[in-house]
Amino acid sequence: MKITLIYGDGIGYEVIRATEEIIDAVTDKIEWEIMEAGAEITDKYNTPLPEETLESIRRNKIALKGPTATPVGQGFRSVNVEIRKKLDLYANLRPLKSYEGVETLYKDIDLVIVRENTEGLYIGEEEMIDHETAVSKKIITKNASERIVDFAFKYAEKNNRKKVTAAHKANIMKFSDGLFLEASNMVAEKYPEKEYDSKIIDAMCMELVMKPHNFDVVVAPNFYGDILSDLCSGLVGGLGYAPGANIGDECAVFEAVHGTAPDIAGKGVANPASAILSGCMMLEYIGMYEEAGEIISALKEVFANSKQMYGKNGMLNTNKFKEEIIKKIKKIA
Ligand code: NAD
Repeated sequence: MKITLIYGDGIGYEVIRATEEIIDAVTDKIEWEIMEAGAEITDKYNTPLPEETLESIRRNKIALKGPTATPVGQGFRSVNVEIRKKLDLYANLRPLKSYEGVETLYKDIDLVIVRENTEGLYIGEEEMIDHETAVSKKIITKNASERIVDFAFKYAEKNNRKKVTAAHKANIMKFSDGLFLEASNMVAEKYPEKEYDSKIIDAMCMELVMKPHNFDVVVAPNFYGDILSDLCSGLVGGLGYAPGANIGDECAVFEAVHGTAPDIAGKGVANPASAILSGCMMLEYIGMYEEAGEIISALKEVFANSKQMYGKNGMLNTNKFKEEIIKKIKKIA
């Protein structure tokens, strides 16, 4: 089957190329259609997101994507936000799991962030009212809130998860977050067999850091979901271990939580684990459970013996890490 492959910017080529080679080591059923997106191609196409890249995803329905850079405070809008909006990829699924051999604050972390992906503060409607006052619009709708909470419960059902917790700040944003909370409470009633609670986002952040095992599936509006994902990646070893998927009814785009990591790009030291795990989520999504399992087993073995892979400041060599995984898959000693 054809899958759209986008390397993206910064460390994108390093981590996605490693993932591509690892997936090719477990299956020959995937034909990659390599397309471009990101800041680095903007001059060539006059846009960071060429129409043919979007068309490729629409046609193939599935894409594996590296991170793309967004200029801060000026310039073009985020390629990710555009892809999510144009393809209505409304659910951002981010499982966070700790692995033996990876240094973490707590053992046995296993939680999932389900982030609303189409609205909230990410609609990009901002204006300067005068030289000293800026306003950002935050849109929360009943439909999108119900849809994402329903997605979270369906995910919990399918994956034998016990509990769903909704994140909000409805004490302050009584209309917008109030609507999200009301929709969450209502959808939760359809799933009486699942535990459900809701928490105010700031208190939730503290509890996540102090008692992460209290959480199972967390569903959140767009902006809180974004921050919670990075916070929780810190619980499992950092952004190098946080995979993700953007899922809609028609298409799905798989990409790690992390960005382009400009500070380490091109040095060959980026941790490809989150991209590889995103690739495994993609394989499972298209029904290739056995192949995903093979990669995850190899990854776990490499993590467990990862002392030689990591230095004091993280990954020593992206390529060596990839080669170790491929050796395990091919059972080369
Ligand atoms: P970042 O995630 O790129 O980096 C944050 C820190 O984590 C850096 O110190 C970086 O070195 C480290 N890090 C990230 N991924 C790593 C990996 N795989 N291995 C080892 N270390 C890793 O966040 P940022 O610096 O805030 O953003 C940089 C750019 O990425 C910005 O232009 C931003 O818009 C973009 N971004 C893109 C996406 C995406 O495409 N999905 C997501 C987040 C940020």
